[in-house]
Amino acid sequence: MLNIVLFGPPGAGKGTQSERLIEKYGLVHLSTGDVFRANIKGETDLGKLAKSYMDAGQLVPDEVTINMLRSEVVKHEAPKGFIFDGFPRTNAQAHALDEFLASLQTEISLMLALEVEENELKTRLLKRAEVSGRPDDADPAVIEKRIAVYNNETAPVKAFYQAQDKFVAIDGIGSIDEITQRLFSAIDTNH
Ligand code: AMP
Repeated sequence: MLNIVLFGPPGAGKGTQSERLIEKYGLVHLSTGDVFRANIKGETDLGKLAKSYMDAGQLVPDEVTINMLRSEVVKHEAPKGFIFDGFPRTNAQAHALDEFLASLQTEISLMLALEVEENELKTRLLKRAEVSGRPDDADPAVIEKRIAVYNNETAPVKAFYQAQDKFVAIDGIGSIDEITQRLFSAIDTNH
């Protein structure tokens, strides 16, 4: 299997690039943010719980997120692999993912980390708010919070994959096509 963690701060282009990667490599796209948003829309208990955290730009608690992720993974029979988009976001999630994948006789192949500087992220998110309808994109204070949470809780997850020699940094500035090509060549040379 080809299991990729597509990593990066909010607004780095993970969702956009995931679409390109699933098309080329036939992978299952698993975005924890998308699953939470679908649950909010469906007014499920999980959605109600997640909403308060998401609207504040905070992380949904690890236990809830990890359980949700596991139940999403097992929905797919004999997948070629997964793109994990927006997961793991904490070291606890990264450990849980490793253990869970091991129990399925597989593992993460690669972490691809899109690197984009902070001012560019803020500009992109505010622009995305015009079309995404996401309340967490529209409020500059929530954007600040999400970036701070990324720096404090999520960025350290890079070291977890660096230690396993699975980490590749990708320049996330440029046209969408240019960045896609960088991701393709990182996958093709490292896998
Ligand atoms: P995203 O769509 O990846 O930008 O995620 C939107 C929001 O969903 C985040 O700001 C968090 O509140 C929540 N979320 C998504 N993925 C996770 C995760 N792996 N752990 C905790 N919270 C998450």
